[in-house]
Amino acid sequence: LREYDRAHVWHPFTQMKEWEESDPVVIVRGEGTWIVDSEGNRYLDGVAAIWTNVHGHCKREINEAIKAQVDTLEHSTLLGLANDKAVLLARRLVEIAPPGLCKVFYSDNGSTAVEISVKMAFQYWQHQGKPEKTKFISFKNAYHGDTIGAVSVGGIDLYHAVFRPLLFPTIQAPAPYCYRCEFGERDRANCGMRCLKELERLMEIHAHEVAGLVIEPLVQGAGGMIVQPDGFVRRVRELCDRYDILMIADEVAVGFGRTGAMFACEREGITPDIMALSKGITAGYLPLAATMTTQKIYDAFIGEYREMKTFFHGHTFTGNPIACAAALASLDLFENERLLDSLTNKIGYLAERLQALNEVRHVGEVRQCGMIAGIELVKDAETREPFPWEERVGIQVCLEARNRGIFLRPLGNIIVVFPPLSISLDELAFLMDGIEASIRAITELRT
Ligand code: PMP
Repeated sequence: LREYDRAHVWHPFTQMKEWEESDPVVIVRGEGTWIVDSEGNRYLDGVAAIWTNVHGHCKREINEAIKAQVDTLEHSTLLGLANDKAVLLARRLVEIAPPGLCKVFYSDNGSTAVEISVKMAFQYWQHQGKPEKTKFISFKNAYHGDTIGAVSVGGIDLYHAVFRPLLFPTIQAPAPYCYRCEFGERDRANCGMRCLKELERLMEIHAHEVAGLVIEPLVQGAGGMIVQPDGFVRRVRELCDRYDILMIADEVAVGFGRTGAMFACEREGITPDIMALSKGITAGYLPLAATMTTQKIYDAFIGEYREMKTFFHGHTFTGNPIACAAALASLDLFENERLLDSLTNKIGYLAERLQALNEVRHVGEVRQCGMIAGIELVKDAETREPFPWEERVGIQVCLEARNRGIFLRPLGNIIVVFPPLSISLDELAFLMDGIEASIRAITELRT
């Protein structure tokens, strides 16, 4: 398996020296919080199957729901037909989503959920007699996926620069990255959120030509688990209202309990105009995504086909009943196992362990939002000087953790903590012990 993997599989994002040189790990089984490789080694899944897994691997109730669905209906189409599971799931999503989101447009992954959101917002204004509203406001450091539209509204140069000529330009607002504030503010309690003032300035200039603003609410994920200040998302909502700009919340990573609430927007008491969901929607089992909208957006698309009012977008596997059955089983588990309530202790414990990491010499900042954490490693904690990129400290820490039975993926020199929400306190202790030991082993060794 490992030989064939090296020979044939083109892994995403991972053509990096250390990974290439390390032994490929081929996962063959999952058990709760653990994944097991072809050699029988067990690893705690510290990335929750790339930020998707909620209830652990091979959760009996979800497995059974999927098996039952396979024996009933594996796929049909939402073009001109409905299927029971897609309908029931839409109903459930509307019940738990921020109030006012009442329509569900299905697709297959986070990028398409965002791509659809952007296309809907664009077309919406065409139908409102404001065809000049064609642009988007996006945030520096944002990540919304890898399709062309999703990349266009992204803001991570490293990933996106090579595709620049293919992308549509956006108006970029500053990232709410307090640790590396682009205005040089160090006192985040008293900065008055200068980044928001800049956002407002951009809106003042451009509102007449802006269709929508895209935001990862509460946490910029792939940009480094950058946690926004309290009230930031609420203020963005107010600004969008004031300047007549549609707010698109990309909850692909933060949705489904990850921040401690079912959806991040809920924590700020707001409803976006459009919300993109994927990853945790099926608890990490199957590819599925949903773009949710308000009635106002939906109504703008009612009309004759030849009037071009229809939303011309649809994927083959949209609303797949097996994926929807998995999602329904996951939502049942949220209720039956009172999952959100059970997170309080874990979030508190994680906070304690992260706090303790501040004592470690090369830990620059620890950031946490619910069951998400980012640990930024720096060369010099005093000056915040980063480790040079070529040293690949983050990857080495993760490889060290792998030797200790933990699978992690870094974001540059930021160590990400994103385990299944079902992780036990003992497992969380094992994870944080391993992370601390790995950070010390790599960073203290080199100085
Ligand atoms: N939006 C966010 C916030 C994400 O974190 C991701 C994936 N990491 C995506 C969109 C893209 O999702 P996918 O990889 O399923 O296309």
